Amino acid sequence: MPLYPPSLEKQFGERRGKVRVLISAGPTRESIDPIRFISNRSSGKMGYALAEAAVKAGHEVMLVSGPVSIPRPAGITGFIAVESATEMAEAMKQNFPDAGLTVMCAAVADYRPARISQKKLKKSSGTMFLEMERTEDILLTLGKLKQPNQILVGFAAETDNLEKNALSKLERKNLDYIIANEIGSPDKGFQTDTNEATAYGSDGSAVHFPLTTKETLAEQILKLVLKTAD
Ligand code: C5P
Repeated sequence: MPLYPPSLEKQFGERRGKVRVLISAGPTRESIDPIRFISNRSSGKMGYALAEAAVKAGHEVMLVSGPVSIPRPAGITGFIAVESATEMAEAMKQNFPDAGLTVMCAAVADYRPARISQKKLKKSSGTMFLEMERTEDILLTLGKLKQPNQILVGFAAETDNLEKNALSKLERKNLDYIIANEIGSPDKGFQTDTNEATAYGSDGSAVHFPLTTKETLAEQILKLVLKTAD
């Protein structure tokens, strides 16, 4: 059973300060052969900061993480280490029904090699072509499974048309909020310690969070989506 956020107290006639929070973080790795993979520059810092902020606020946290080199946050209830988008999809779908709040912060690969070679690929003098196929859009799947007592939040990292792209993802993936952040400058987005973002809500709201540490941004995002802001 999901633990309901305080904001939904009236709807469910009970007050429980504690929410079960499910967070995905980090990159995925899509294997090419036994020693090679395709991945991205996600450090996991934003997702881990969200997990830490949720623990600090007294919530129960399940963290599903791709390969990262930062320490596992203290005080979390569960941790599932995954590599590929397929493994992340499994872990998220399994834990989603129990979560009051789910935040998909991971940088999931959109494509994976169509075949994984069992043997190390040998080089030849010619050009090499790698056939890629789509991975499952985990957030889209979760949006279809979402119940009225669940809050679903996605991230949108864009180099251009930030607002337009974020709003279209908010609607298409049936999210309650999308956190849009610009990538491509040295102080925002991937691999940085700071970030700047705008949270767009399905209620038409837009809240801008100016450049700050990922820890502070994580606290601000949590307060907004759980409606616990003072
Ligand atoms: O459409 P786009 O990939 O930009 O959407 C980003 C959001 O979707 C992020 O929250 C990301 O975690 C999620 N996503 C996903 N599965 C994918 C690709 C992205 O859940 N295969």
